[in-house]
Amino acid sequence: MKQQYPFSLPPLPASYDALAPQLNGCTLYFHHDQHFVAYVETLNRLLAPYPDYQRWSLEQLCLEWRQLPDEIRLSVRDNAGGVYNHDLYFKTLAPASAGGPSGALKDAVMREFGSLQALRTALKAAALGQFGSGWAWLVFDRGGRLSIQKTANQETPLPLHPLLCCDVWEHAYYLQYQNRRAEYFDNWWQLLNWPMISDAYRWDA
Ligand code: MN
Repeated sequence: MKQQYPFSLPPLPASYDALAPQLNGCTLYFHHDQHFVAYVETLNRLLAPYPDYQRWSLEQLCLEWRQLPDEIRLSVRDNAGGVYNHDLYFKTLAPASAGGPSGALKDAVMREFGSLQALRTALKAAALGQFGSGWAWLVFDRGGRLSIQKTANQETPLPLHPLLCCDVWEHAYYLQYQNRRAEYFDNWWQLLNWPMISDAYRWDA
């Protein structure tokens, strides 16, 4: 997300009903238009009195929050992370298709996990194993090596490069799945926009 202050809410990539039945319209509405927007608005409010930090990119805020003034440091970390994480989460969703990774990403998945199914199994273990609120990620490092990561609350996996993320905060699934996080994961997985994710697997050597 190449954004700076004032941050704005990216639109959903599809209509509220386009991701059903895996994610229903009510779940998407509350998640995107109530939770995500709250991170955007809170981040803007926190930075409003600080012109020096309004020049920072979203990624810089996520990475260098320790340099911020005491009174906003942790709140900016949490809300900048909330904006960054949700931007990727929603951006990489699309109506269900039977696709998978392509090109260099497909090759890397086969090389490093053995199969797409093995990647899915590892990611699901991370998603179900995250105690409390947080995220499960597929990321790559500066050499292009893939790995699965977990983060708590709104921590990001930066400076690793995230390709996709499963939001396992209860607000992401509870309206539709209640406590059935595994069922949510299985259905969320069907919505991954593999053409977009595959295209994002690039770096400057
Ligand atoms: Mn969320």
